[in-house]
Amino acid sequence: SKYTKKDILEMVEDEDVEFIRLQFTDLFGNMKNLAITSSHLKNALDNKVMFDGSSVEGFVRVEESDMYLYPDYSTFATFPWRPQQGKVARLICDVYRPDGSCYEGDPRYVLKKIISEAESMGYTFNVGPECEFFLYHVDDDGMPTTITHEQAGYFDMSPLDFGENARRDMILTLEDMGFAVEASHHENSPAQHEIDFKYADALTTADNIMTFKLVVKTIAKRHGLHATFMPKPKNGVDGSGMHINMSLSKDGKNIFQDPRDKYGLSQEAYYFLGGIFKHIKAMTLILNPIVNSYKRLIPGFEAPTYIAWSAKNRTPLVRIPGTRGEDTRIELRSPDPACNPYLALAVCLHAGLDGIKNQILPPECMDANMNAMTLEELEANGVEILPRDLGEAIQEFEADPLMKEALGEEMCAKIADAKKKEWEEYNAQVSQWEIDSYLLRV
Ligand code: GLU
Ligand code: MG
Ligand code: MG
Repeated sequence: SKYTKKDILEMVEDEDVEFIRLQFTDLFGNMKNLAITSSHLKNALDNKVMFDGSSVEGFVRVEESDMYLYPDYSTFATFPWRPQQGKVARLICDVYRPDGSCYEGDPRYVLKKIISEAESMGYTFNVGPECEFFLYHVDDDGMPTTITHEQAGYFDMSPLDFGENARRDMILTLEDMGFAVEASHHENSPAQHEIDFKYADALTTADNIMTFKLVVKTIAKRHGLHATFMPKPKNGVDGSGMHINMSLSKDGKNIFQDPRDKYGLSQEAYYFLGGIFKHIKAMTLILNPIVNSYKRLIPGFEAPTYIAWSAKNRTPLVRIPGTRGEDTRIELRSPDPACNPYLALAVCLHAGLDGIKNQILPPECMDANMNAMTLEELEANGVEILPRDLGEAIQEFEADPLMKEALGEEMCAKIADAKKKEWEEYNAQVSQWEIDSYLLRV
């Protein structure tokens, strides 16, 4: 670990930290925390803090509700936006049972389990996410709206506006917390933004995504704005994705590269890709977990619908970015920021490793603009499409044994049950579109 127990106690003392938040993530990607005062820190660092697991969505039943939080020392960080006297710090925790065993329902545990499988094969899984989000106005009661006064588009430079100032503050805050922010820009839709930070090993990246969302939402609020990671908050404009850039390294060297190959990719990279393609339909429930996710995955809005890959254009599911050498990577474009990042990276890695173990090859590269192709042309090329709605995604998820292998039977059942409920609830609603289309005519 980056820090020892002594380091943390000293930092807390020296930096005048008064509160420590012990954080973890529920099954659906919501950050949870329990705040303790610094006088209890030693206790917490000795893994003695207990909480009621039955109150957390997707966790245990009431009969077995005592759970313990084991802080990961290396995640110690202070919140720069809180008062500087009597500071607030956080520690990201793993969830354990009273008998000292890991709790398999903890999403962070699931990712760690698959990472250690990769490690036993000699691999480090490196991931860089591209998180997109919208900044909207709040109404007089402080409730979020989908209203924005801004008109800017992709890479636009705006005159001084809230969006620009908020984004600047977000980046400074992230850097204060140790993020290496690489780029940020206005995205395609009005009020849509993207901030990219440096890739890291998968566990660090999943932790970072959780922190990133907290920072973006917190700083937006300070600017009187609401930041949303909802995949498709508005009709007719691009939604927000969370592209995942992936590579494997061995002994510190990126093993996805091969300069002799036509696309600069190694055999491992092709197999990894093959695994992703084989399981993508089932993984979609994890990568695109809500009803709204599927409103983004339609043609014409820079989000993928077809299960294909390309070294050039951005319409397919997977793109091979132009960078080569140590930066060689594959970019999966379907995930959206509503996903639980721990589970998302866990299924990606597990599918990729399945590809390597079983030498699964991906389909042929498709450099054509698939949005310009007819369904017949696509079919003739053997191109399949991603699940079209949450219902289809649930079916695919349940049909693929690899999901149970990756997430465990119990977690899979919990996810499927919760998602079926959500899907049925949604289907029982009469939408404004139906009223507008049918009330008068029918
Ligand atoms: N916003 C697009 C999406 O939904 C992606 C745009 C881009 O290529 O960055 O995935
Ligand atoms: Mg983008
Ligand atoms: Mg991208």
